[in-house]
Amino acid sequence: MNMILNDLLSITQYNNTKIKVLFNSDSIFENILSAPDITSSTPSKAESNKVFNFTYADIDYELRTTFNLIGIAYQLLSSNNNSNNITIETEACIDNSTFYSGFMPTYTPILKYTGNTAAIIESIENEANKTIMPLIDIRKDGDINNYLEYGYDNLHFLDLSVLEIMRNRVYRDSIKERRKKERGSPSRPELPGEEYTSATRGEILDLYIQISETTTIIPTIRIDTTYPANSDDIFYVNKMRENFTKVIIRVMGMDNFSININSYLLLLASILSDSYIIFEFNSIQEAKEVSVLNTIQNSEYSPQIIYAKETADFDSIKREHGDNYFENIALSGYLRLKQYNIENIWFADYCGYERDTATSYIPGMKPNAKLHLVDNKDAKKICIYKIKVEEERGTGKTKQSMIYLVDEYIRKDNINILYLDPNHCDACTELYNIESLSLAKSKSICMRHNGITIAKL
Ligand SMILES: [Zn+2]
Repeated sequence: MNMILNDLLSITQYNNTKIKVLFNSDSIFENILSAPDITSSTPSKAESNKVFNFTYADIDYELRTTFNLIGIAYQLLSSNNNSNNITIETEACIDNSTFYSGFMPTYTPILKYTGNTAAIIESIENEANKTIMPLIDIRKDGDINNYLEYGYDNLHFLDLSVLEIMRNRVYRDSIKERRKKERGSPSRPELPGEEYTSATRGEILDLYIQISETTTIIPTIRIDTTYPANSDDIFYVNKMRENFTKVIIRVMGMDNFSININSYLLLLASILSDSYIIFEFNSIQEAKEVSVLNTIQNSEYSPQIIYAKETADFDSIKREHGDNYFENIALSGYLRLKQYNIENIWFADYCGYERDTATSYIPGMKPNAKLHLVDNKDAKKICIYKIKVEEERGTGKTKQSMIYLVDEYIRKDNINILYLDPNHCDACTELYNIESLSLAKSKSICMRHNGITIAKL
């Protein structure tokens, strides 16, 4: 046997991978390489080695493969010495059989509260074949009244952790009143700007208690395991436990997770088995995800675990100019958990949109005319259109770009029907027939379509 091909392909996502040997462009051999077990104690234990023998056109071949944490190494040997026209390809395979009924027991759309939130959740629920348990994040105290009046009534998670309270509301209201009365008068006072400061934990706790009197909520405790629980956390968490029998722990930082998580879990031990823990694995390596989830699954506590991740990796979106289609990394990450026998986990995302509007999370991002639509077949890909017409480049304006988006892409059917099919859902129908679109409207329509698509999986 003579070595005819030899290479190392570096790989960052450890899915089972199909390896193909091609003669010209015809496949002459295919097989599946199992992904390395990244939970192994040593890199060599994680490695998987396979040797395949096959014959094609009377020539014998031997394909030797090693799949480890560096990537896939292969050597192809043959009984003659000719490598002409022979190439090797690999292709990650996400196991479609995971889409069995019930593979995702519950879906948690994470939504920053706006006037559209209740309508988005209701659309998602109407189409869902699974339980929907939203997480609603309210950031401004002025939204709380609307939320209570027009909000969502079914059981849900509520996060007030980063609530800002307008401290001069009463004063501003009195000035507004005076300005109405003194219209036209030279001494009419100026309306002062809104002054916000962060709500204290005491204020947040009081609001949770007050809201829970009229709405069925599970309050959120955000933690950062970069640090162990401190005396302030202990006080807050104890107060929360005294008032609620279930909470959701929202893990924001995971730097020293395995060292510090127990200091938080211990505090909540008495209610933990009825509670929830959500991990937002944005920009977190797969190996870290698995180790974090294993830590909780192997602990003596059994809160319901919820896996959340941003739908598309923002760095690759910025890099790949001209390409509009990206892998839905939230869903592929969730599906991969099966590979590690991590089961009974709920799925959460931000309804296809990357974390909130890009502008509030990505330094330097400017508003764009945008569509973020997951494919309506299995939501494994997302199509992202970012439009910026020349005259609005470098400005925060989007009006002309939005007109262009509607005229050139939506009306002319230039968007693949897999992503925008008027028959798919009410959001698609609305978008397909839209006369004019604003950034907020586009966000809200896309979130509805994306949430509905996941809810129907
Ligand atoms: Zn749709």
